[in-house]
Amino acid sequence: MTNLSLSSCFSKASNIFIDSYIYPLLLIETAVQEIQLSWVNQQKKVIPVVVNIRIGEDGKSYWSIYECTNRDKLHSELIKMKEKLEEQSKELYQLAITDPLTGLMNRRELQKQITRAINHISRNPSTFALLSIDIDFFKRVNDTHGHQVGDKALIHLANILKEDRRSNDIVARVGGEEFVLLLSDINEEDAYKLAESLRKKVKQESVNDIYITISIGVVVSNEDEKRSADELLKLSDDALYSSKNTGRNKTTVAQY
Ligand code: GH3
Ligand code: MG
Ligand code: MG
Repeated sequence: MTNLSLSSCFSKASNIFIDSYIYPLLLIETAVQEIQLSWVNQQKKVIPVVVNIRIGEDGKSYWSIYECTNRDKLHSELIKMKEKLEEQSKELYQLAITDPLTGLMNRRELQKQITRAINHISRNPSTFALLSIDIDFFKRVNDTHGHQVGDKALIHLANILKEDRRSNDIVARVGGEEFVLLLSDINEEDAYKLAESLRKKVKQESVNDIYITISIGVVVSNEDEKRSADELLKLSDDALYSSKNTGRNKTTVAQY
């Protein structure tokens, strides 16, 4: 078969591939193996084929061409399977970092994100704040109205905390009735103001005719933060417990 008639047997895309890749490679390697191309038969049906080519001592190229419809099908199925597995692995990752009740980020992922924020401000000087938030006397809500109503109150609070957040702020549920906000690019004064406005909003909005209050602890990172995520969380937690010990339904800024 001449090159001319051979090229008329392959699809346009295969011919481009032959000219731009296979021939140049043949010049260097003198053989190419298991290249998949598209053969177009006389009925214009496209058939996947595997091609081996070698340059003989006489300087001519020798082609072996095998139909590989089954291999092609298997390959397509493998690709589909791979895409499905990638999709499932994304879903599993989302599940692993999410609190199922509120849909918020969980504690483990929050710790990673705080570490990321620490690394970020070491490269781009700025500050971030952590707000530790805990519902006051939440046990009473459960005891008086039942666990389901308690769950609704948790979802309600999660929604208030999510409202009006900037795109790179993070809201996490870190324990039963405990939440943490990670706020980027904010100073202590603004973090305190934001905490106070959240506290007042929570106090004013009822869920199932029940009113809850929250206590908050605030810590703002230094530009050259040397503390770990755990150390910062401990500081905002300590400030939260000062709020608890001095009457609840209030915000305390960490002193250090
Ligand atoms: P304090 O003001 O000191 O924080 O008092 P508190 O009652 O809120 O704190 P305590 O730690 O004594 O009780 C927390 C309660 O939170 C106990 C538990 O019933 C409730 N809780 C924790 N997780 C969940 C949850 O997923 N759903 C519901 N409904 N309640 C929860
Ligand atoms: Mg509580
Ligand atoms: Mg608590």
